[in-house]
Amino acid sequence: MSSDRKTLEERAQMTDIERLRHSSAHVMATAILRLWPDAQFAYGPPIENGFYYDFEMKHRVTPDDFEKIEAEMKKIAKENQKFESRVVTRDEAMTLAESGRLGGLTDRPGNPSRFKLDLIEKIPLDEPISCYQNGDFIDLCAGPHVGYTSKCKNIKLMSVSSSFYMGDESRGQLQRVYGTAFESKELLEDHLQRLEEAKRRDHRRLGRELGLFHIDEMVGQGLILWKPKGALVRRSLQEFITQELDKQGYSQVFTPHIGKLDLYRTSGHFPYYQESQYPAIAERDVLDRLADEDASCASLINGLSDGTYEGYLLKPMNCPHHIKIYASEHHSYRDLPVRLAEFGTVYRWEQSGELGGMTRVRGFTQDDAHLFCTPDQVAEELTGCLDLVKKVFHTLGMNDYRVRLSLRDPASDKYVGSAENWDKAEAAIRHAVKTLGVEYTEELGEAAFYGPKIDFVVKDVIGRDWQLGTVQVDYTLPVRFGLTYIGPDNAPHVPVMIHRAPFGSLERFTGLLIEHFEGKFPAWLAPEQVRVIPISEKTMEAAEKVTARFADAGIRVSIDRSSDKVGAKIRNARLERVPYMVVLGQKEVDEGTVSIRQRDSEELITRPLEEFLESLLHHIATRQL
Ligand SMILES: [Zn+2]
Ligand SMILES: [Zn+2]
Repeated sequence: MSSDRKTLEERAQMTDIERLRHSSAHVMATAILRLWPDAQFAYGPPIENGFYYDFEMKHRVTPDDFEKIEAEMKKIAKENQKFESRVVTRDEAMTLAESGRLGGLTDRPGNPSRFKLDLIEKIPLDEPISCYQNGDFIDLCAGPHVGYTSKCKNIKLMSVSSSFYMGDESRGQLQRVYGTAFESKELLEDHLQRLEEAKRRDHRRLGRELGLFHIDEMVGQGLILWKPKGALVRRSLQEFITQELDKQGYSQVFTPHIGKLDLYRTSGHFPYYQESQYPAIAERDVLDRLADEDASCASLINGLSDGTYEGYLLKPMNCPHHIKIYASEHHSYRDLPVRLAEFGTVYRWEQSGELGGMTRVRGFTQDDAHLFCTPDQVAEELTGCLDLVKKVFHTLGMNDYRVRLSLRDPASDKYVGSAENWDKAEAAIRHAVKTLGVEYTEELGEAAFYGPKIDFVVKDVIGRDWQLGTVQVDYTLPVRFGLTYIGPDNAPHVPVMIHRAPFGSLERFTGLLIEHFEGKFPAWLAPEQVRVIPISEKTMEAAEKVTARFADAGIRVSIDRSSDKVGAKIRNARLERVPYMVVLGQKEVDEGTVSIRQRDSEELITRPLEEFLESLLHHIATRQL
């Protein structure tokens, strides 16, 4: 809960912009009190991109009140009140709070500052108590603040919600108004524009409007239902990635969605990380037996954890299954590397508060693969992984991405694998990333104990960072599972494993793509590539034939059979982000041509049907933007 009091040290480290935003929270409180003097304020910190203040009062604030509150805030900014701090004794603070003066503009007999009274009690005895005053408003506050309220003129109230004092539901509901403040009008407007843009591109809204995916409470939170159109986008993406994997010598595999607990005990995924997994599934006879014995839930859970009872787990990772595929055969150094790829669905238990759209989910499909190779092959395999990433990002027009290298802390001894292998792997990772030619950072001590890794962060068109997937070198799982290959010396050796899911999950990646393209997918990804639009009933029959011709050639096409006017038909196709509209009037029918209108163009180009079809097929096959 964010209402934990900041320590004095944390306060001293407040940045200039945080100071400005926190000061704006005081200005907002002053404005609210001028409008509704009964308001009782609780807590008002700066947050990322703004500030809020929690309070209680009779009037329920709605967004309709924002204009009025903002006008009052601007007036207070104009009054240029000085923020003055004053250290008070505990008794003085209590007197101010009891009279309703703290967090108020005047004494308020019969309306003591109840939250401030509580906050005073929470201040450690050895800490000074300070108040800040601007104009008539006195607040219990350790600061720091800007000098004058005139700094707080570039403000905007964003939203209102309810909250609980100190996050405690038993203490009644408060109102929380969120706002933002910037140093200049331009910066504020930039920010608001970016928010507008983000709203326009929001994949949750577009996903609904374009019929791409659905989340149903009855199915479960964080579980994505891919609707037919979304499924087509996903299929196109999977086909593309699969083609690239085929070129790189990967073998595709399929594995089930569950595995025995013993598998995950060996991998180390169970019973550790239990809080981020769906609970284990007990075997039927175990459940029956325990029910007969009238055993407790705790004994079941403990028995599953310590291995007394057998059970299954919805797979949190694909690695153990792929390891078992590798282990099912003998390997010589001559057959390495073995590259096993799967669009593997995994399940994680995310807190419900963290779920939203396709970016935080409880079941997702990774573009996963595991490479088993000799220590000498690590460098080449990493380069191969990065080539693929580069190809995919480039094809999607995402050219602004960076890479984070997580390396070991050379001073620590917590790492498994020989220092020599680590040196080799880290040099390999660094080399591979350099050949990518993108910006990268090295973070010492951020590697997992079992190997160094590469993370990908993509910047979208409006400058937001999206953390995608990783490529990770692993020295430990091959040991845990006793994997081997026979080396040139005829002796068994332990292979190195590389986990790679560079795009993270298909859910998250598709969410990013929806926002990146604003739903306007390039033709090769678009769920509907062509909409055939007959000008009137007279050309309907010819339009049906043209539609059949496109469908026959493998184009995702539909026909608008409605009685709408051409203008409305075009508008609908555009709203649905269809890249090509093929308009058919009598003239086109007579000449064997089609008139093509592109999604973002006003121009109507007339071309022979077969010629257009051929160029469209080429455009799609080469995955042009
Ligand atoms: Zn303050
Ligand atoms: Zn893995």
